Amino acid sequence: MNCTKCGKRILFMKTQNDRTMPVDEQMVYVVPDDSARLLAVTHTGYSFHARLANAGDKDARKAHLTHWANCKKHTPNHVQAARDEYDRRQEEVIDNKLAFQRKRYEEARRIERQKREPSEVAEQISLLHFL
Ligand SMILES: [Zn+2]
Repeated sequence: MNCTKCGKRILFMKTQNDRTMPVDEQMVYVVPDDSARLLAVTHTGYSFHARLANAGDKDARKAHLTHWANCKKHTPNHVQAARDEYDRRQEEVIDNKLAFQRKRYEEARRIERQKREPSEVAEQISLLHFL
């Protein structure tokens, strides 16, 4: 079924302590870690604390994550607002970088197209011989 709040595919799983938990249908790789905050559930319904696996983690295993950790609608508004603001700034940084590169490119093209004095051209050709 789909989550009624965010529309993501979810499953309801009964865990070892007889609790029914909504989990993401999509399984992910996790590493069991008692100090981690994520709660993962194996396909047999065993729940444990885990962190997301990194590439190369030897003890990584596939599990479902509890859906409330990923449901957008369950995220407090101020947290979602902070995430949106972060995303917006990331985009702004990329836009600024692109604008800066475009400006440099256009400046280089402009200089390239300028008519130059024969003496300047000769100097440049003579400099080339030193390279
Ligand atoms: Zn949801």
